[in-house]
Amino acid sequence: MERATKPHFALIPFTGTISHVIPMTDLGCLLASHGAEVTIITTPVNAAIARGRVDRAPAAPHGAAITVTAIPFPAADAGLPEGCERMDLLPSQADVSLFFVASRGFGEAVAQYCLHEAPRRPSCVISGTCQTWMLGLARELGVPCYVFHGFGAFALLCIEHLFKHRPHEAVASPDEPFDVPALPPFGCRLTRRQLPPHFMPPTSVGGKALQGMREFDVAADGLVVNTFEELERGSTARLAEATGKKVIAVGSVSLCRAPSLDPQSMSSDASRCMAWLDAKQPKSVVYVSFGSCGRLPPGQLMQLGMALVSCPAPVLWIIKGADSLPDDFREWLRENTDADGVPGSKCLVVRGWAPQVAILAHPAIGGFMTHCGWGSTLEAVTAGVPMATWPFFAEQFINEQLIVDVLGIGVSVGVTKPVETVLTASNAGGSEVEAEVEAEVGMEKVKKALEMLMDQGPKGEERRKKAYELKLKAEGALEKGGSSYNNLEKLIQSFV
Ligand code: UDP
Repeated sequence: MERATKPHFALIPFTGTISHVIPMTDLGCLLASHGAEVTIITTPVNAAIARGRVDRAPAAPHGAAITVTAIPFPAADAGLPEGCERMDLLPSQADVSLFFVASRGFGEAVAQYCLHEAPRRPSCVISGTCQTWMLGLARELGVPCYVFHGFGAFALLCIEHLFKHRPHEAVASPDEPFDVPALPPFGCRLTRRQLPPHFMPPTSVGGKALQGMREFDVAADGLVVNTFEELERGSTARLAEATGKKVIAVGSVSLCRAPSLDPQSMSSDASRCMAWLDAKQPKSVVYVSFGSCGRLPPGQLMQLGMALVSCPAPVLWIIKGADSLPDDFREWLRENTDADGVPGSKCLVVRGWAPQVAILAHPAIGGFMTHCGWGSTLEAVTAGVPMATWPFFAEQFINEQLIVDVLGIGVSVGVTKPVETVLTASNAGGSEVEAEVEAEVGMEKVKKALEMLMDQGPKGEERRKKAYELKLKAEGALEKGGSSYNNLEKLIQSFV
């Protein structure tokens, strides 16, 4: 195996969700644009997505290249249907543990490839979260192992604080709030129910695996974070202090290419929604989307839908999993919303994959109702779009507080409980996912949040101004001499 002449980064995104494959591929494009060699190693299904994104990035200078290598994912060996290479492709939530069994087999195949078959040895591996097997591989290769969590620095800092000080253990009930003073003077107040899955009891589903993940995080050599230093009010420096590791802010990685329709979005749906936006007034539209796989229970979805069709602003609403919704809800959608992109229509519904970065960059977008996934949050910041926050689970309740309280660019819808999954039920101390969950947020509450989001008065103007200032800072961070630009340079230079 040859040693690379240029620093060579092997990027192995967490295969479980598309929202990890997207930013790590974009990170690869950024590293290549700074002259590094990059190999992205992932499963065949994810490799197709990565290749589509790499093909749309500007050509890297000095002949630097990105290779996307697909390694088979042993889904069938773990008892899963062939092709189940991500968690959104699993037949049921109960199969999550089988996914992790297959993921370990995938790790062995990646190690075999990197140690014995790859044409070039990496200078450094950057592993997606959860892939505990990466540490052993990096050690065998004799190179540093950095972790890319897909979370922002403020959330990672709060998680670090929770691990060290365990304030959640001092409260009696899953709904009793406690403080997480990780970034004074800014507060963060959570309930046990709102905690990321890291804090599930060790006895619950996946609890033991999570303990292994924490050990992996503690042993890793550094963190690569999709953020920029000016954004999270000193969180990156504090995180470095709290973990004793290098924390390298390299975002916003979505800026690695001009916003455009990605191959996944080349559907008629996507082109229709862009044409529909073209016919709208500047900053007039609310974009509603809950990430790559966020689904609300039907009762809650109906309350949201009624608010969206009755609010004065035009709405572009992305719904995932629409085919499995009850017939009466689909009937309601047909009667009350538009699926065809009729130019004057009030509420356009897209059921497939939406070109989110291009949508957020469209001048017609005035606000974004988001589940506060970090990818979506940062993409909105980068586009200068204020948000209405509706966290679902994971670290999203922490991100909500960053958006609303720390950055002042959002309004909270007022959700207090996470969307029920096997993991969130365990977090709250329960063991069963409730079959039918009542709507926590009524239509009026959603309408109120939308009204505030699109408010033309001084408060709305102030949020828009702050969001615009952050957009400029995001752009500056990746320009020559900017903080993320310099961090990418330093990272690469450390391996010359
Ligand atoms: N995304 C997209 N189109 C969709 C849904 C999601 O392009 O229809 C992208 C979005 O731009 C972001 C990622 O998927 O990059 C979602 O990541 P996030 O961290 O916000 O949420 P998650 O999917 O992990 O819940």
